[in-house]
Amino acid sequence: MTVVAAGSRGGRSQDVRRGNLSSLLTYVHVHGPTARSRLTAVLGLNRSTIGDLTGELVAAGLVREEPGRAEQADRASSGGRPSYVVTPESELIQVLAVDVGVTSLTVARIGLGGAVLSRRDHRHRRAAHGHRGVTTAIATVGAELLGEIGGEVTVVGVGVAVPGTVRRRDGQVRQAPNLGWEDAPLGAALSDRLGLPVSVGNDADLGIRAEHMRGAAAGVADAVFLSGRSGIGAGVIAGGRPLGGRAGYAGEVGHTVINPGGLPCHCGSRGCWETECGEERLFELAGRPAGGGLRGVREVVAAAAGGDVVARAALENVAVWLGRGAANVVNVLNPEVVIVGGALEEVFAAAEPTVRAELETAALAALLEQVCIVAPHLGADATLVGAAELAFDALLGDPLLDLSRCPAS
Ligand SMILES: [Zn+2]
Repeated sequence: MTVVAAGSRGGRSQDVRRGNLSSLLTYVHVHGPTARSRLTAVLGLNRSTIGDLTGELVAAGLVREEPGRAEQADRASSGGRPSYVVTPESELIQVLAVDVGVTSLTVARIGLGGAVLSRRDHRHRRAAHGHRGVTTAIATVGAELLGEIGGEVTVVGVGVAVPGTVRRRDGQVRQAPNLGWEDAPLGAALSDRLGLPVSVGNDADLGIRAEHMRGAAAGVADAVFLSGRSGIGAGVIAGGRPLGGRAGYAGEVGHTVINPGGLPCHCGSRGCWETECGEERLFELAGRPAGGGLRGVREVVAAAAGGDVVARAALENVAVWLGRGAANVVNVLNPEVVIVGGALEEVFAAAEPTVRAELETAALAALLEQVCIVAPHLGADATLVGAAELAFDALLGDPLLDLSRCPAS
């Protein structure tokens, strides 16, 4: 977190104030209800400044203050007085978060502080998920969710996670091979339909963002989130910062060739990592219909656990490729934590010894000895929560921006 010191004058003092408001609101958004005395300590500001800043955020309707029982250390730092607790207004300040998959999408209302308040899962047929159809589905389901809320609620924006490369400045999806999209104007079209600011990001980038903020990679400087569904993408934190590359498209590990001469890929190449261990490959090997999504992967895992030898062989096959591909990721990036998300979380849990054996064969020992391979702490919602963070960005960066009222209220 960036902490801006107080005390300057004029225009710069406005920048300092804005920075301090941003730091305070971001802290309670990430860490939840926090005693004022704790905020004084972590933000490095004096008590009266924290009181003034909190008062401004209360007046803006972004946080509330309640007398709280300060923890022992906080009580000591506040001279024995109980400290007020600053709590984000989760019910009053919300965003819409959207996670677009190949066979389904999820839309949720998420409150300031990160709580999922309400959600809808919507299945769509593979043949009918052109970007216009998906835009319509998101707008319809989003309007239903907005219709649930009262007039006192402010919805500050919409964040959308997509399995593809995304031009962040306008939410244009440049390529999403598994969806069959090229240059889909999702951000602009959705903003027109919902009348709210819309930000769009890559699903793996948003998964690592959520896990770095609130989950398995919290406090870790070098981490990778593998978003494994129909395709595989990597969201990367390197040296404490997101790794985006020149245009923000870095991390397309699913299209690194792992099996030359292997199966044809949606991207036009052959033997890409995701053709060997995406969920569709699992369904094919297990003799099950395509498009089963996360539920279908769980059915294969359950069948394997129940003694179905075809399902077990399919899982083991995919687990081998998962381990080999993960070894490439470890060798290239030297992460401390690799988070295996999406459907791959289920494969990893069901065939972990196979994944680890392949990793040990293919990753260099010096890199492997420091890496933890884990499931996402936020489970299947990591990407959805990351999409919400995208939608909260503008508010957290400048908390006193005009808050546009939800048009549906
Ligand atoms: Zn490919």
